[in-house]
Amino acid sequence: MLLENFQFTQSNMQDYLTCPRRFDLRHRQHLQWPAEESAPVQETERRMKLGSDFHWLAHQHALGMPLPALTALAENDPSPELGAMWQNYLAHRPAELSADGVRRFPEVTLATELGGFRLAAKFDLLAALPDGRVLIVDWKTNLRRPRADRLRARAQSRVYPFVLARAAESLLGVPVAPDAITMLYWFTAAPADPETIRYDEGQFAADETFLTDIIAQIAAADAFPLTDDARVCRFCTFRSFCERGDVAGPLDEFEDDFSFDDLDLDWEQVSEIAF
Ligand code: SF4
Repeated sequence: MLLENFQFTQSNMQDYLTCPRRFDLRHRQHLQWPAEESAPVQETERRMKLGSDFHWLAHQHALGMPLPALTALAENDPSPELGAMWQNYLAHRPAELSADGVRRFPEVTLATELGGFRLAAKFDLLAALPDGRVLIVDWKTNLRRPRADRLRARAQSRVYPFVLARAAESLLGVPVAPDAITMLYWFTAAPADPETIRYDEGQFAADETFLTDIIAQIAAADAFPLTDDARVCRFCTFRSFCERGDVAGPLDEFEDDFSFDDLDLDWEQVSEIAF
């Protein structure tokens, strides 16, 4: 059984959809198992730091820090990749973010109630546009642009717009209809080719059903089976615990399907495990 105050997020829902056992170990038992997610470890650590540094720069810009100061920080970073990521941001960041009258809300968390539990979303950036539309911006720092179908199938693509549609009024002072919401994944590796997902009433209703069902399934579950897809075990810290192998999968394959950017709410645990 789940504790009454358990909080659902895109991260723990994705864990359940990927592998119910992983959800159980990580979010019910709070087991921390000492293994890296992908190899080589030092390169994994370096990529995680790069992603974190890029998010910090974008956050500071949304808060109003001047671009020249941020550019100097990026270009003086020991890793030249951060400077290149930042140049991509300068050249191709979503134009809506610079429009007159736009209100920006970086690193904001909203929550709603669903199925008797709290469902929360921590957004990289919400932008309330003067015409009433609201843009969800999610920065992705993968080595390569993820496939669109895989991105759209992720729990994040359902949870973020759904929570915003339910909870926007608490932030903006007015309700926001699903049709006014757009989710935009922006990639440092493909800055001119973001993935744009327009939300609407039909998808909102479908997501409400889907997410309610998942929550009910998890809340009622007394068994959490191991995934049949042993491929994902190569990138899971519990692989030796589950007797699914001892060797971490290669970083470049990890980034085909997974992203360090998705691990926001598990960041503390990941850092502890890997290093
Ligand atoms: S190692 Fe595999 S089976 Fe075990 S929790 Fe991770 S993904 Fe699930």
